[in-house]
Amino acid sequence: EKKKLYLGMDFGTSGARYALIDHQGNTYAQGKRDYPLYMKEEKMDWIQSWKDTLFLLLDDVPVSLRPIVASIAIDGTSATTIIMDSKSEEPLSRPFLYNESCPDALPLVKSIAPTNHTVCSGSSTLCKLVAWWNSYDSSKESVVLLHQADWLLWLLHGKLGVSDYNNALKVGYDPEMDSYPSWLLSQPYSHLLPSVQDPGTKIECMKEDIRTQFDWITYIVKLHEHDGLGDLLLMCPFTLSGYPKDCLICTGTTDSIAAFLAARATQPGKAVTSLGSTLAIKLLSIRRVEDARFGVYSHRLGDKWLVGGASNTGGAVLRQLFTDEQLEKLSEQINPLEASPLDYYPLQAVGERFPVADPKMEPRLHPRPANDVEYLHGILESIARIEAKGYNLLKDLGANPVEEVITSGGGSKNEKWTKIRERVLGLPVCRANQTEAAYGAALLAMKGACGNTTSD
Ligand code: ADP
Repeated sequence: EKKKLYLGMDFGTSGARYALIDHQGNTYAQGKRDYPLYMKEEKMDWIQSWKDTLFLLLDDVPVSLRPIVASIAIDGTSATTIIMDSKSEEPLSRPFLYNESCPDALPLVKSIAPTNHTVCSGSSTLCKLVAWWNSYDSSKESVVLLHQADWLLWLLHGKLGVSDYNNALKVGYDPEMDSYPSWLLSQPYSHLLPSVQDPGTKIECMKEDIRTQFDWITYIVKLHEHDGLGDLLLMCPFTLSGYPKDCLICTGTTDSIAAFLAARATQPGKAVTSLGSTLAIKLLSIRRVEDARFGVYSHRLGDKWLVGGASNTGGAVLRQLFTDEQLEKLSEQINPLEASPLDYYPLQAVGERFPVADPKMEPRLHPRPANDVEYLHGILESIARIEAKGYNLLKDLGANPVEEVITSGGGSKNEKWTKIRERVLGLPVCRANQTEAAYGAALLAMKGACGNTTSD
């Protein structure tokens, strides 16, 4: 059996990365590119920037490994939306970015969607679609909506109008029924909606003209088209160069789901806490859980659900008080087996949503003890209590009880905090081996090529 590798690419908020892995999950190559800054009519030209980044990453993959890349999958930022003409294959407007809001479309969306549906937020894909639909005057017959990942994948496979149910959630796709709901299909713009597949489903082989761009033999043959050397080269015994003819392009997912996949938590009850600037928790559950009051919703993952909630507490507050070096020095002196009596609610600004829905909640970081070790201990312990409350809330809403917590983000390297969290949560807590979304996308590529991943 010939060795095969799987390529994942992550188009995140600050740049793009790739990871190339084998069937056992070993990483063979990885890399990062910043988005080049291109301006068009005084605005950032994201389309050109993402496109160039895609081809730069494909070119960064070591030449010697390209011939054994069996498949490729890509994740992108959630709700980043591109509306394009299927005839000219050109975007009909600049892309709507993940965090862009279209508040004018919200009343209309709210009037057609069920109460508290995921699409009822100004930054949802559906609000972006409605905003575009109502402002565009030319013909809208041959138009198609793509998410960022769909569009990047389309550049590689050429089959227009394919998405996955993670990206399509915020445009209104119902992953439980596995269809668009009737309230959406009855809208005049329903013909723009892409068809939806499982994340990690093979779509098509890489387009010939894309493939040959990365094939140096083809390149040299072209250079020597007229002097006979080209024909000679074509007769050479080495046929392997560039990406293979049967390199499969597979459906992707969103960036945060790809990051969850990277941690390889595949059993219900397994969870990933991200301790970055904010605190986000994601729990694998048999049951789907939604509660708009707390901003809790579920993404489908095969026959399970990924239930998530995000608090405004987290590392950003720590960074306001201490440098990362101070954090390390002070943490060393904490005794994690001792409970801190200090009860804080660290927030950067007024307002919290999960696990307490209170837009007026004030940050609470007082009283501040004279000793900074005690102060930090109190803050870390308080954030741990908020995390525990979060998992309890998910359970109360109907999700599986959490059994084990994997940690990612800047806070995951703090071993004392891990010990504090183990005590407060009453659960085993460990650090994730893999947290790169690109690695999660590579697992989807593997799924597309093999039908499963090693841990399934
Ligand atoms: P994001 O990507 O969300 O901006 P990161 O995952 O890079 O964040 O994590 C950065 C956060 O980690 C910072 O807010 C910082 O306060 C926190 N952090 C860094 N070092 C430590 C540490 N030793 N202990 C706890 N938190 C830390």
